[in-house]
Amino acid sequence: PISMNDPIEERRICVCVRKRPLNKQELHKKECDVITVPSKCVLLVHEPKLKVDLTKYLETQAFRFDFSFDETASNEVVYRFTARPLVQTIFEGGKATCFAYGQTGSGKTHTMGGDFSGKTQNVSKGIYAFASRDVFVLQSQPRYRNQDLEVYVTFFEIYNGKVFDLLNKKAKLRVLEDGKQQVQVVGLQERQVSCADDVIRMIEMGSACRTSGQTFANSSSSRSHACFQIILRRRGKLHGKFSLVDLAGNERGADTSSADRQTRMEGAEINKSLLALKECIRALGQNKSHTPFRESKLTQVLRDSFIGANSRTCMIAMISPGMSSCEYTLNTLRYLSKEE
Ligand code: ADP
Ligand code: MG
Repeated sequence: PISMNDPIEERRICVCVRKRPLNKQELHKKECDVITVPSKCVLLVHEPKLKVDLTKYLETQAFRFDFSFDETASNEVVYRFTARPLVQTIFEGGKATCFAYGQTGSGKTHTMGGDFSGKTQNVSKGIYAFASRDVFVLQSQPRYRNQDLEVYVTFFEIYNGKVFDLLNKKAKLRVLEDGKQQVQVVGLQERQVSCADDVIRMIEMGSACRTSGQTFANSSSSRSHACFQIILRRRGKLHGKFSLVDLAGNERGADTSSADRQTRMEGAEINKSLLALKECIRALGQNKSHTPFRESKLTQVLRDSFIGANSRTCMIAMISPGMSSCEYTLNTLRYLSKEE
């Protein structure tokens, strides 16, 4: 069981929530902000309801997290409390995973820093870049300097149960599992990097590849999981691995009754992978022996990052503050919060 008093550094699983500000369109439409963050671990949803006599009232529901960030929190602050403690983990020879979960438009890609359209955001101001920067900071510290650790990155996308390499022209890759349950993505490009700027170039390249060939700005990226990994090797041998995952929009999992067959299939696949992820995280939090990794490509590929004594996971739930998003916001909060 996770105690709220534990220092974050010692928790195996940390679950946080981030509220983004109302955006221009929402302000223009005079949307109500239905979310408040009264303290550092609590988030409240004030859902407008009607009584039988048609008078309006607000129904407030409370959700508890390890950390809750309001709309004034910067990416850097969110990073400091979520992914930063995990950078150390990979230097100690462990595996770390950080997920961005939530509805399309809630701020997953913004938080991770995987948006490089150049209009809205600077790649160097997101979690991918902050984590990379700190990897090089740690690498040059006295206690790690003599360990001959080399840094590599990979960037791939899981779309409809298939893996595509974002650092290699979206090449479709096979996933193999050997008899010892070791999972391998065959042919995944690992690029060696020697400074934070090298990494930023890779993020830009992968992000451009992710959004290329899309008819609508955000359409297929909201249906895929993007996984950026920072890998430490010593003389070729794996030392530690940090996977940073920008998940598919969770509202897409509800597309299972769409008239379009393709959309229906994609929805079912997203549903399956987000459910499997939740089950795996629950199982880890409760130290259960059976964990349903094989249920989806996402959990299968990340399997080795979840298990092992020295593995740690952080989940960041992103939420939109507007009243029109209330239903999906509640879905997101129920998926992850401590109170059910
Ligand atoms: P998602 O990846 O979850 O679909 P995005 O990250 O693309 O959502 O965010 C949608 C829009 O909202 C983008 O224009 C983004 O820049 C903006 N946005 C998201 N989170 C924030 C935030 N915390 N502060 C300011 N703008 C944000
Ligand atoms: Mg996105």
